[in-house]
Amino acid sequence: MPDKKNKSINPNYSLKKSRLHPPGYYIEGIGSGNRTILSQAITLIESSHPERRELGEEILEKCLHKSGHSVRIGITGVPGAGKSTFIDAFGKLLINHGKSIAVLTVDPSSSRSKGSILGDKTRMEYLSAHEKAYIRPTAASGTLGGVARKTREAMLLCEAAGFDTIFIETVGVGQSETTVHSMTDFFLLLMIAGAGDELQGIKRGIMEMADLLAINKADGENLQAAEKARREYENALSLLPEQPSGWKPPVQTCSALEETGLNEIYETIETYFNKVKESGYFEQNRKQQAINWMYESIHQKLKEKFYEHPAVQKKIAQTEKLVEQGKLSSFKAASKLITLLDR
Ligand code: GDP
Repeated sequence: MPDKKNKSINPNYSLKKSRLHPPGYYIEGIGSGNRTILSQAITLIESSHPERRELGEEILEKCLHKSGHSVRIGITGVPGAGKSTFIDAFGKLLINHGKSIAVLTVDPSSSRSKGSILGDKTRMEYLSAHEKAYIRPTAASGTLGGVARKTREAMLLCEAAGFDTIFIETVGVGQSETTVHSMTDFFLLLMIAGAGDELQGIKRGIMEMADLLAINKADGENLQAAEKARREYENALSLLPEQPSGWKPPVQTCSALEETGLNEIYETIETYFNKVKESGYFEQNRKQQAINWMYESIHQKLKEKFYEHPAVQKKIAQTEKLVEQGKLSSFKAASKLITLLDR
């Protein structure tokens, strides 16, 4: 029995029951900072239904001139490092500095487990209750590329709605860091002092992307261990090649729980932005990111076009069988399916 109440199981449910508005409704709503309408527009962007997605794209296109005026901060760290506690506490500090904050997540793990590592429940108590903050739970499931596109577009809509600081959070366990790095201006790696080898568990590639390493949970009995870890990471970072921005990533300690060390992190981020804006790197990096995303979007769209094509949908299961039975090579099968697009 299909569950008519469950929108995620029955795609027709949302289509029939919830009415779509003309683009102007969403564009105006976003422009006036209406977060309900912002959420509705993000849902359209995330939709796998072509009509809804098209509407989402139109809205995005017309909002683009209002986006871009923000700082985009990527944050990663292993589960339990304190990312959500940190964003909540740091967000509070930013709000006290007059900023407004949107928090988005890239968490492709949700496609595998349904329940995501980052979790859809509210993890940021302060921010979730604050009018200057907007938290969008993990994007709908899908491939990393798909989730990333949705997150990037959601980010642009949040900017158009007037949020001046965007946090994009990801779990430091896979490929998603590179993706988050490719859509943000500043990349913060949140670490904790652990027993044994301090560098264990976090890939060198992630360290190379970081603009700041923060050792969290520097409080109570953990204070000394955090300071020791700070020195070790500082040594490790000094061995890495220089960043394209010319920035030397510092290693700092903080406690998200006790809200210490956060002012210092704020100052570091301010210094970074002043420096890269003055040197021109900020603009140049954003331009390069936009070009990269154009290619990324081409790949995504081609993929969607392929899998949504009726002839492909009709033939794909049957072709898969032939490959499984060894009657057709994988390469030939792919070529045959791709030629169906020309029909
Ligand atoms: P996430 O998985 O990286 O988002 O981590 P959470 O923010 O959910 O934190 C995981 C656990 O660490 C929670 O029990 C937090 O209360 C705790 N925690 C987070 N930050 C700190 C900190 O600065 N000090 C201490 N002692 N605990 C912290």
